[in-house]
Amino acid sequence: MAAAPASSFSYSSVEPLLLSASPATAAVNEQQGRPLMAASKPLLHSDFDLQWIEHTRLLQESLTEIQKILQQRRSSGSREIMAAIDDLKRLCIDHYFEEEIESAMGACMDLIHSDDLYDATLAFRLMREAGHHVSAADDVLRRFTDDDTGEFKLALSKDIRGLLNLHDISHMDMGQEASLCKAKEFSSKHLASAIRYLEPGLARYVRQSLDHPYHLSLMPYKARHHLSYLQSLPNRDTAAMEELAIAEFQLNKCLHQKEMQEVKRWWMDLGLSDEIPVVRDQVVKWYMWPMTTLHGPSLSRYRVLQGSSFSRYRIEIAKIISLVYVVDDIFDLVGTLEELSLFTEAVKMWNTEAPDSLPSCMRSCYNTLYTITNEIADMAEMEHGFNPINHLKKAWAVLFDGFMVESKWLATHQAPAAEDYLRNGVVTSGVPLTFAHLFFLLGQDHTSCYNENAANKLSDHIIPPAISCPAKILRLWDDMGSAKDEAQEGLDGSYRDFYLMENPSCTLADAEEHMKKLIVQEWEELNRECFSRRSFSSSFSQASLNAARMVSVMYSYDEKQRLLVLEEYMRMLLL
Ligand SMILES: [Mg+2]
Repeated sequence: MAAAPASSFSYSSVEPLLLSASPATAAVNEQQGRPLMAASKPLLHSDFDLQWIEHTRLLQESLTEIQKILQQRRSSGSREIMAAIDDLKRLCIDHYFEEEIESAMGACMDLIHSDDLYDATLAFRLMREAGHHVSAADDVLRRFTDDDTGEFKLALSKDIRGLLNLHDISHMDMGQEASLCKAKEFSSKHLASAIRYLEPGLARYVRQSLDHPYHLSLMPYKARHHLSYLQSLPNRDTAAMEELAIAEFQLNKCLHQKEMQEVKRWWMDLGLSDEIPVVRDQVVKWYMWPMTTLHGPSLSRYRVLQGSSFSRYRIEIAKIISLVYVVDDIFDLVGTLEELSLFTEAVKMWNTEAPDSLPSCMRSCYNTLYTITNEIADMAEMEHGFNPINHLKKAWAVLFDGFMVESKWLATHQAPAAEDYLRNGVVTSGVPLTFAHLFFLLGQDHTSCYNENAANKLSDHIIPPAISCPAKILRLWDDMGSAKDEAQEGLDGSYRDFYLMENPSCTLADAEEHMKKLIVQEWEELNRECFSRRSFSSSFSQASLNAARMVSVMYSYDEKQRLLVLEEYMRMLLL
């Protein structure tokens, strides 16, 4: 098995897919020149079962093979085992080898003070990702800078592998890390100018790393590119890892297709898009959020706890996200201020009679969100022994209050201060509500019992950074201008506009520059939370990072209002 070449993997020939669940809406989108993707084939259960069995078999075979390889690498030396761990992480199969990776962390500690740029920066990245306290300036980078100027030594500009690792770590800035800012500038400049003389496979890899920096990108997406790069190398000993990565991809893809069918079926049966024609109908795109945010092992030592549960969680979270979009559209496009106020009161009452006096579309929406939220609370109780319904009710009430604030600003022609708008915009992004549901579904961690204390982390008046950072990043990206709010016609303000009103001497470009700076600051805060503070379980922190990573993918519209990177993600991970 070790000597066998890994099957080559192609993702360019797949058909694209509809953003919308309903063919009618897809036709309307096409007429209006909106981004269009073709329908995927439904996956039959028997297909799924057969594929599952086959990929599971391949996966088990590769697991045993790789364990042997890791043992050999360990005895070969620190550099060898660290490079193997890096490949496991880059291929998104590291969760199968948690114990082996943990026991190999000593190798990173040996190499972090190395004089070799590749070794030192890789050791730094692996240690910081694992939560070890390491200082970029003191522990690593000082040795690579000129004592007099403080700039990186020019000789390093020829070390492409070292520069790639330097570029990777440069996005892990926790704030006030000037050496990482310099690292970003130096590595970007010299990698970009090296592309023209590198051999094609490496040049492609470098281009991809510059366009989609490792820490800012979704790992399964990066993994597909890393796999292609490994497959392009003439002499390599990573065949078993490649086999496992391919089996893992296929397994996840099967699972995602099955989940997507279930979410689509739920959405069509719900009939809300027929009842309220103005609501956005993009259930497949909405499913992309939990699909990418919550990716875990499809099969692992924790399969029962993680693999099967994550699949169910993704489906339930997709429903919550769909409802946030529906509620947003009802507030922006359907209800009068008085009706919206009654809608909000009904959500605060939280009982089956509450929606009786509401217009029928609000009643349908209320009944759906009431049912789904109660089901999620019951599911959380079954898995973790604590029913979070009171917290979830409150999260919905906070979201509705946020939408009410926006509606009142609009109705009274008030322009809020940009800061007030952003604070409220964090709430109306729907991220805090969605993460509240996710928090209770995931539980605190896999070993500790779940209790009220853990839940209180979400009950403080201040939204914790693990949630507020991706929410702010989302709101700022959404308001930056390239998105026309996903073809939604509502006018609910924009940070950029309010900032310009407050700063009349600023240009549009100044405002966007300011917003980009705010986004960088949120990333630094999120890095502090995930690498240093670590207030939440690792699954929750990963979800938080992934949500932030997905924002630019979800909101990078081109001039024709297409989401090309999102379409690439869909082709790779879902179709
Ligand atoms: Mg709105």
